[in-house]
Amino acid sequence: MNILVVNTGSSSLKYQLFDMDTTVSMAGGVVERIGEEQGVLNHKDFSKGREEKTRLEQKIEDHREAMHLAASLITHNIDAVGHRVVQGGEAFKEAVIIDQAVKEAVRENNSLAPLHNPPNLIGIEVAEDLFPGKPQVAVFDTNFHQTLPEKAFLYGLPYEYYQKYKIRKYGFHGTSHKYVAGRAAELMEKPAREINLITLHLGNGCSISAVKGGRCVDTSMGMTPLAGVMMGTRTGDLDPAIFGYLMDHTGMSQKEMDEVLNKKSGLKGICGHNDLRDIHALAQKGDRLAILAVDMFAYQIKKYIGSSAAALGRVDGLVFTAGIGENDDIVRARILEELDFLGIDLDEEKNKIRSGQARAIHKDISRVQIWVVPTNEELQIAMETCEVLER
Ligand code: ADP
Repeated sequence: MNILVVNTGSSSLKYQLFDMDTTVSMAGGVVERIGEEQGVLNHKDFSKGREEKTRLEQKIEDHREAMHLAASLITHNIDAVGHRVVQGGEAFKEAVIIDQAVKEAVRENNSLAPLHNPPNLIGIEVAEDLFPGKPQVAVFDTNFHQTLPEKAFLYGLPYEYYQKYKIRKYGFHGTSHKYVAGRAAELMEKPAREINLITLHLGNGCSISAVKGGRCVDTSMGMTPLAGVMMGTRTGDLDPAIFGYLMDHTGMSQKEMDEVLNKKSGLKGICGHNDLRDIHALAQKGDRLAILAVDMFAYQIKKYIGSSAAALGRVDGLVFTAGIGENDDIVRARILEELDFLGIDLDEEKNKIRSGQARAIHKDISRVQIWVVPTNEELQIAMETCEVLER
C-alpha cells in the first residue's frame, strides 16, 4: 500500500510517500513561502534507487496550488492519505478515517490551535479533491497524550473552566514521542508494556514525556506548545502572574505579549540566538549570555527528567530525539550531569560519536539505558494510517 503523508503549516506543505510493504520512502518534499511573491518547492524522488531532485521557484498562490504541484511530481499510485493534525482535543484518542464529523471536530478545536488546525483542515480538503475516493486519515499530535490521567492533565484552576472552556493539558509532539518510544522498546529488546521511558523531543520546540508501559502518563507541554522547558524562542513554564504584570508595566497588548512569549523568548530571549550551533560558537568565545542560555536550558530539562522519573516510579530508558536531541552532544552531556543518583550514567565517548543512526550512549554500569533515536513523524503517521485502514 502506498501512503502519502501530508503536513500543512500556515505557509508550508511537507509531504512524503511511503511504500508500506517495505516502509521505505519513495518520494517527498517541502513547499515553502506559499502565498508570498516567490514560493519554492523542493522535491526528492528515491524510487529509482538514487536521489533525483526537482526544485521549482515560482509564485505559489495557496495550499491548493502547492498540493497540485507536489502531486504532479509524484509518479506513483496513491492508495491513501495520512494527515498530521495538531490539535484533536479530547475527541480523538487515536488516528481516524476522516469524514464530515471529523472535519467538524477539527474545526471546533480551531480556537485551541489557531495557527495549526486551520491549515491542517485546508490540507485535508485539498487532498479530498485531488484524490477522490481515496481514504483520508487524521493523526493528531495530541493522540498519544490522551492517556494522561486527570490528575496530570488538569490545572489548579476552577474545575468549571475545564468543562466550559476545555482548559487542560493536551501535550504535543505526540507522534514523535510515540515513534521513538516504540523504536526504543525494539532496540532495548523488551515489550513496550514492560518498560518505562522518558522521551525527550528537543528541536525548535521541546517537550518531555513520561511513558509507562507504552502509555504516556505525563508530558511537559500544556494546553498549548508554549509550556514546559524553555525552547528556541518560546518561554516554557512561567509564573502566570508575569503575564498581567508585564502588560501593566509595558503597555503591551495581548497580541504583542503573545509575540514575545512565542517568538522572542527562550534561548533567543536570553542570548539573542535560537540555534544551538550559533550559541555554542558564542559560548566558546566566552559570551556570558550564551553560556547562561545553555546552562538554563540544560537545567530545566534535567528538572523535567526528575519530575518524569517521579511520575514513573521506575525509569528503564531515556530517549533523545529531534534536532538538538539527535545532534547536540554538548547539551545531552550537560542535561545528564550528576544524574547518577537516578542510575543515569552517560558514556562520554559514545555520546560524542556523530551518527544518523539510533544508538545507545550509556555506560555498561548505567541502570537506565540512554538512547539517541532519530524521529520519523511521517513514517509514524503512515503506519497509523495503515493500522486504521486495516482495522
Ligand atoms: P523543528 O522543531 O523545527 O522540527 P528540529 O527538530 O529540526 O526543529 O531542530 C532544530 C534545532 O536543532 C535547531 O534550532 C538547532 O538548535 C538544533 N540542531 C540541529 N542540528 C544540530 C547540530 N548538528 N548540532 C546542534 N544542534 C543542532
